[in-house]
Amino acid sequence: MMASAPLISIAPPMPFFSGNYAAVNEEGRLRDSHGRAITDLRISVTDRCNYKCVYCRTGEEAISFSELPIEHYLRMIRIFVSLGIEKIRLTGGEPLLRTGLVDMVAELASSRPAYSERSLDIALTTNGHLLEKLAAPLKAAGLNRVTVSMDAVDSDTFSRITRVPRSFDKVLAGIRAARDAGLGPVKVNCVLLRGFNDDQIERFADFSRRENVIVRFIEWMPLEEPSSAPGSRTWAPETVVPMDEIVGRLNAYRPLIDLAPNAASETARRFTFDDGVGEIGIIAPVSRPFCGHCSRVRLTSDGKIRTCLFSQTDYNLHGKLLQGQSDEELAAYIRHVISYKEARHHIGETGFQKPSRSMVHIGG
Ligand code: SAM
Repeated sequence: MMASAPLISIAPPMPFFSGNYAAVNEEGRLRDSHGRAITDLRISVTDRCNYKCVYCRTGEEAISFSELPIEHYLRMIRIFVSLGIEKIRLTGGEPLLRTGLVDMVAELASSRPAYSERSLDIALTTNGHLLEKLAAPLKAAGLNRVTVSMDAVDSDTFSRITRVPRSFDKVLAGIRAARDAGLGPVKVNCVLLRGFNDDQIERFADFSRRENVIVRFIEWMPLEEPSSAPGSRTWAPETVVPMDEIVGRLNAYRPLIDLAPNAASETARRFTFDDGVGEIGIIAPVSRPFCGHCSRVRLTSDGKIRTCLFSQTDYNLHGKLLQGQSDEELAAYIRHVISYKEARHHIGETGFQKPSRSMVHIGG
């Protein structure tokens, strides 16, 4: 149920990108029915996670969906790449729990995007718990960048969120190992919940400046596992800390300077401080939806395509693979599915329906 007077206001979505894609031959590139080029594939390589973050999970250990042999992911990814995918983000669940991940990255690193002269951009989103040992091998295998999810910069608050004791030191060691391995610039993502970790905003600014990482604040979306378990949080608009409030708080800490977006599909508004030290991104899918520039598609750990985080439907690509369909048939299926990509999400609107899967089981 929506509260009658939400604290956040929802801005209209940005218009679709109408830029010029003329640098390479675009014929055949994967596009949705709204004209958006689909260049970014996020793939969950396991449904398992070793954290039970209060805003994401119920606190129970259960796995909801299966994981597939790495070769099956690789085959599906190669078909996506042949259609125009230029960026792969490996996620989960917790991707560092997946055996064979380093070899998978090495395999991916040999793929070439069909519609770009650049090499395939391979990124990873992780909670960082196991990153200290894996950062250097992943970099050597061909991983380009890492994003670490970290929702507090003090150990007690962090353990309260993850529900895993002494987890903060491990994640900090992982962030430093990633930076030292050359997986930078390391991004640190923080989901803010009012009254829970929003006291950390200024401390995260310090953290960015001190540790030489990009800190990105993300508005909490209605994507949590359904639960009445103790300690778990259920989404409400009042709990979202909107972009304007974060900007105000940071400006009071030290004046912010706008940075230009890296690309039209950039989801974050970027800032540095008046002395140029530190970088902050703010991702505001709730108060400032950016669906008009969406270039993403997701593949779940059990091999289903999701065309939007908020979809009500999964499309079973892996099922087609198991039926023995050829690469051409699978490519045709992907094109067909992408034509159903939603124009935008409807968070905050009357009649909004939660998606058919929660974030941890989609792959964020
Ligand atoms: N285990 C990995 C990790 O922690 O980064 C990958 C999966 S996790 C689901 C991916 C990201 O989704 C994390 O940064 C997490 O904070 C974010 N996330 C989870 N639930 C969310 C929600 N309801 N709204 C916004 N972000 C969410």
